[in-house]
Amino acid sequence: MSEPMVELRGVTFGYGATPAVEDINLHLHRGQFAGLVGPSGAGKTTLLRLILGLLTPARGRVFVEGMDLRGKPSPCVAYVPQIETMDWNFPATVLQVVLMGRIRRMGRRPWANRDDARAARAVLERLEIGDLGARHIRDLSGGQQQRVFLARALLAEPDLLVLDEPTAGVDLQTQENILHWLAFLNQGGMTILMTTHDLNAAAAHLPWVFVVNRQLVASGEPDKVFTPEILNPTYKGT
Ligand code: ADP
Repeated sequence: MSEPMVELRGVTFGYGATPAVEDINLHLHRGQFAGLVGPSGAGKTTLLRLILGLLTPARGRVFVEGMDLRGKPSPCVAYVPQIETMDWNFPATVLQVVLMGRIRRMGRRPWANRDDARAARAVLERLEIGDLGARHIRDLSGGQQQRVFLARALLAEPDLLVLDEPTAGVDLQTQENILHWLAFLNQGGMTILMTTHDLNAAAAHLPWVFVVNRQLVASGEPDKVFTPEILNPTYKGT
């Protein structure tokens, strides 16, 4: 099999004395669409931040496309943060936010050129928010905001798209739309990793899940992994 897109080897990290994630071994292969699932506080966001190179493991190593990150972000990864954690006072229009996805390509050039603007408009059209370019991000619905940040990530043309709780804080219809969009992008070849605490949505939409609760509890197809014991840790059988 080809080299994994993401590989964690014995990764442990804690903010204080207690580890938030402990001895995690995980492989995400090119072309996979997978969820990091688990209850609140299980360490999902911490794992994402380790994979993004925003945190450095206390023990173990994180590889992205074979490169040992050592706490440095990989250029082939794009990130969609949780919209609930965003500062909405940031004064920017939709087009400006989306163009930030192009920063790495702009290099020393501090402005977007015509190609960047054309690419940004095309990606907004693709996500069916082509008419929102001039609007302030603060004035959009949660679902629209989520698509703006997805558009920004797509403009970077990443090999791996990482999303933190993309279905949190939006209505059910928008949740379905987002998950369909992600499936569509994955069919086009993009590798996708997202966190969710919503086991039902994960079971219905994700082809692969990693269940975490400080440690990696299980991984596989949701219908094989979501045993009664995982869905309800106090389950003792009938
Ligand atoms: P999840 O994303 O699954 O809800 P997190 O990765 O956010 O879990 O959190 C895992 C554990 O680490 C929790 O016990 C949480 O309280 C703790 N934690 C998360 N971020 C911080 C931080 N910045 N400082 C201290 N503790 C944190």
